[in-house]
Amino acid sequence: MQAGACPPAATPEGLPRLPVAIVGAGPVGAVAALALAARGVRARVFDAREPAAGKPDRRAMALSWGTRLALERLGVWARIARPDPITRVSVSERGAFGSIEFTCEDLDTPALGFVVDYGDLALACGHALEAAGIPIEWKTPVASVDPVSDAVELMLAPEGGAGYRVAASCVVLADGAEGIDGGAAPSRIARAYRQVALVGDVGCERFTPGRAFERFAGSGPLALLPRAGYFACVWIVEPEVAQDLLGAGSAALAQALEQAAGPGFGAMRWLTVPVRVPLTLRRAGRAADPRVVPIGNASQMLHPVAGQGFNLGVRDALGLASAWPFGDPAATVSGDALARALAAFARSRLVDRSLTVAATDAIARVTAIDNPVAAALRGFGLAAIDVLPAVRRRALDTLVFGAS
Ligand SMILES: Cc1cc2nc3c(=O)[nH]c(=O)nc-3n(C[C@H](O)[C@H](O)[C@H](O)COP(=O)(O)OP(=O)(O)OC[C@H]3O[C@@H](n4cnc5c(N)ncnc54)[C@H](O)[C@@H]3O)c2cc1C
Repeated sequence: MQAGACPPAATPEGLPRLPVAIVGAGPVGAVAALALAARGVRARVFDAREPAAGKPDRRAMALSWGTRLALERLGVWARIARPDPITRVSVSERGAFGSIEFTCEDLDTPALGFVVDYGDLALACGHALEAAGIPIEWKTPVASVDPVSDAVELMLAPEGGAGYRVAASCVVLADGAEGIDGGAAPSRIARAYRQVALVGDVGCERFTPGRAFERFAGSGPLALLPRAGYFACVWIVEPEVAQDLLGAGSAALAQALEQAAGPGFGAMRWLTVPVRVPLTLRRAGRAADPRVVPIGNASQMLHPVAGQGFNLGVRDALGLASAWPFGDPAATVSGDALARALAAFARSRLVDRSLTVAATDAIARVTAIDNPVAAALRGFGLAAIDVLPAVRRRALDTLVFGAS
């Protein structure tokens, strides 16, 4: 237990009793803990890994303006190193008619979003949790969650120490896509995409600060996210293509990227060796107990095509905190009030989650079809969205603030 933390109340069986236990101090678990703390609810957080230090994971992510506002309120934003603004997004079909341009003037905000590294975000979240005095037990994997009559029991297996149990009125699973299996954890339905992401940094001759690109480039989309003077690149290709590209040497790999990106960038070169990330759509089924609540990637892991996974997870975390019965900081919240709050949370998240998962999956499938007719139809679709102001605005609002 963290030094200085208050010992939690005990259950009748003598187990330490928490109002809320959060499994996973990743970015979504951290946002949930901070948002609950802002409502006076003190959660205890458990994570299997060590606290983030330096930059363990340099994978770039696009955070929407809506996510930035939430992170600012929760004291995370100011702690993130090097957030680079996105002021313009161009979505287009390579070599075909039809494109959409979104700019921050469309939203009347200083930026549409920001690019950050996952490692910097995780580090900032860890510091914000510390500053808010939220107790976290690092290197403490949760082995199982099992409902008992008036609580949910967690079995903790700290690294190098003896396992022990705690009980919680509510367990929030923010343990990512590879989290706890069995017990009261929901089963997960998974479908692997026949695609992988090649992720790395890319330099080019013609770079415009703040400008992001999403190019539908044959068998998958290519995202170029602006950093300080270069792009963070997420290039989706078939596994066999990735294999060939990675084996082809840096010059051939750069040339292939130039072709996928199309004209306008000049010569491109990889600044880092691209990392290959397999892609899977994963959704949690119904948890065996309503007091066990999956959020973020533990609830849904998306294809990265629209850069929505974390943004959606943040909305899960905020939704949970705002549904929580107000003014019950201790374990005194009644079972009925909690059940009502959790049911309200599940209802409130249904539309945003379902639409975001379905839309992302549909875009992933449609942009994977590599033939001239599909390319022409995609171009036509983009042009149609662009000329219909209501549709265009709706698409932008959904990307930045979520579906409703
Ligand atoms: C290539 C790629 C690009 C992406 N780009 C974007 C983007 O541009 N924008 C965006 O919004 N999203 C993006 N995403 C998605 C985003 O990375 C995820 O949605 C986000 O990281 C999910 O955060 P999380 O906290 O739910 O899970 P994680 O980040 O996976 O955190 C889970 C935490 O739980 C802990 N844990 C796991 N099991 C246990 C256990 N049994 N006990 C205790 N702790 C445990 C882990 O140690 C970890 O700290 C991208 C994903 C990929 C693959």
